[in-house]
Amino acid sequence: MPQHLCIHGHFYQPPRFDPWLEEVLPEASAAPYPDWNQRINRESYDPLGAARILDHHGRISEIINCYEFINFNFGPTILRWMARHSPTTYHKILEGDRKSIERFGRGNAMAQIYHHIIMPLTTDEDRDVEIQWSIQDFQQRFGRRPEGFWLSETAVSTPDLEALARANVRFTVLAPRQARAISDSRGNWTDVSEDTLPKDQPYLIKLPSGLEISVFFYDGPISQAVAFENLLSDGEGFWQRIVANHDQQLLSLATDGESYGHHFKFGEMALAWVLKRALQEDSPLSLTNFSSYLDQYPPKQEVMIHEKSSWSCVHGIKRWQDDCGCSTGDHPGWNQLWRRPLRRSLNVIRYYVDEHYRHYAKELFRDPRQAMLDYGNCLCEGIGRDDFLRKHQARDLDQNQRAAALKFLEMQRMSLASFASCAWFFDDLGRIEPLNALSYGSRALEMLKDLQGPDVEPLVLEVLEEARSNDPALGDGPKIWKEQVLPRRVRPAHMAVMGACMQDRESFFSFPGLEFSTRKEKNLLEVDYKWTCLQEQGREKFALEQEGALDCRVQTEEGQSLGIGNLDKKLQDQILLQLDREHEEKVLSDLKQAASILGRHREVFFETGQQEPFAGRGILSLGMIMHYLASSEEPDDWSAFWKDVLQNNPYLVFLLKSMLEKELERLCSENLQLWDKAGEMIQKSRKLGIYPDIYHLQNRIWGMGLNLFKNHTLKMFDFKD
Ligand SMILES: [Zn+2]
Repeated sequence: MPQHLCIHGHFYQPPRFDPWLEEVLPEASAAPYPDWNQRINRESYDPLGAARILDHHGRISEIINCYEFINFNFGPTILRWMARHSPTTYHKILEGDRKSIERFGRGNAMAQIYHHIIMPLTTDEDRDVEIQWSIQDFQQRFGRRPEGFWLSETAVSTPDLEALARANVRFTVLAPRQARAISDSRGNWTDVSEDTLPKDQPYLIKLPSGLEISVFFYDGPISQAVAFENLLSDGEGFWQRIVANHDQQLLSLATDGESYGHHFKFGEMALAWVLKRALQEDSPLSLTNFSSYLDQYPPKQEVMIHEKSSWSCVHGIKRWQDDCGCSTGDHPGWNQLWRRPLRRSLNVIRYYVDEHYRHYAKELFRDPRQAMLDYGNCLCEGIGRDDFLRKHQARDLDQNQRAAALKFLEMQRMSLASFASCAWFFDDLGRIEPLNALSYGSRALEMLKDLQGPDVEPLVLEVLEEARSNDPALGDGPKIWKEQVLPRRVRPAHMAVMGACMQDRESFFSFPGLEFSTRKEKNLLEVDYKWTCLQEQGREKFALEQEGALDCRVQTEEGQSLGIGNLDKKLQDQILLQLDREHEEKVLSDLKQAASILGRHREVFFETGQQEPFAGRGILSLGMIMHYLASSEEPDDWSAFWKDVLQNNPYLVFLLKSMLEKELERLCSENLQLWDKAGEMIQKSRKLGIYPDIYHLQNRIWGMGLNLFKNHTLKMFDFKD
């Protein structure tokens, strides 16, 4: 009998998108990357699509798209981001699923609960919405219906399984300790534990409604070892650990996708090695995925689960509403008493949002419930907003009514997004995840008010009074709401400040959720804006009080003076990025002009507020170093000098590295002759302690069948340096 191996990767990132701009904004903690999505994408998702297998000399001998051989789930929010920001990785994932269908008969990709909410803690209505939106998103991306669903944190109760079965989902995957009892073929039940449960087969759950769903239980110890026992440090060791268990009919592992490359540097190479070994002819195990295995070996036994259990809280699902003791363990002595009031406050918002929708959306939609269930098609751009409204409108709607109809749905979406599980997962209310949850809630409240709903904010704040951060400086819920959540709201006046900061008279800003243009005319600044998801437009004028990149100020209608310092940090960073872009081209050609802009940029970047003589000289150094790297005539002993200059200037290193990467990319895409030059630049930059990211260039060279090691230049691209 063939023995099977199924490795599952659960890929998940908390929703980081800003609820107004619909974009992930800069996060300083993710440096040297602009935000955590970028960082984890580069460290994990990206290399998994092109994972290297090295030969004995440390040279690339093979590059594997792991998504072709492992079972996996990615959530809609991260895929939407990836399609925009890392299309190559995104297409590797889609291609992986396509090829797995050719190989295994069924696809590797599973769907995931839309906002990664804890399903046992929600209502029947919201369960269906979260599942339907996810199916619609999956269909749009993968071109097929999902057969399996990953439950957030594998948190499960019977109503969740009923909802999945109603949506024709065939199976889910749970942790072994979530099984309570199994039956034999004659219907006799035996209690099981995670140790006694045979995990090498799928089980059937017969639901009270008469529907059925299958469940796989993964192998706990090896999955745990991937996360906590350094198994990914050595591909062959990982493989031997798996083979030691090959007497099982099915060995399935469930791992966090970020283990590969993010938690463990080069972990994707260990995985690629295991996949290569499993694909060899003499392998004792053959690779499979859950769907295809289910086809070949349908369940013979039934299972009963522990109601309201999960894979990451030994107390069931308390981690997402109580101070149960489960946390990351980074701060012994901290409590999580804030979890319950945080959930209650978001439940208050959810209740009023939903009530308002129930009562008033019927004036706009023929069937508000159906419109809501269908809205996922809009979110994944399977259908345009105009067509969507034509399909669901109660009658011919005018422009304002159409905007209101979309706002009703967006209000629902923001309220649902606030329940993403990560808000409760960690150890403090002051972290970014609860802040994001409250921001989504705040956005929902804002729209509720716009739609003539009740003002629920005082009630929400009352509940939040019970939530306290462990950091006394951050204080309680209302303080966090006032100081950190409310400033995130984006108003036309904030757009005006952004436009005023730009050098040009006219500027255009484009985010997925908001587009606006600004025009300066004498002492006035005009803003034209459009909230794209709402198809809502407007135009406002502001008095321009003061000019000059980062010193500019505008005056609001109420006579309030606003400058960059009055904006939320995210908008400040956004202005700096935009200024950077405005000046990218000019940096080398006009160093003097760029000096003032980038000098200030650096100041704000570090939030030091200090005036440093560096500002002007730094940018000049940057130009001179780039010139040094590009020139073949400079005497070599300059390297010590420039290394010294760079030593205490991390921001300069950051700028130099990104400029260098762009230059290398340019050289290598033009013609082969220029690769010599690129190779020299890499060598020279390494002497300065600068290590440009050349992963993709290396892969490309390898893919062209070039021998990396034959000549001196290509050796510069050598992985091992
Ligand atoms: Zn717990």
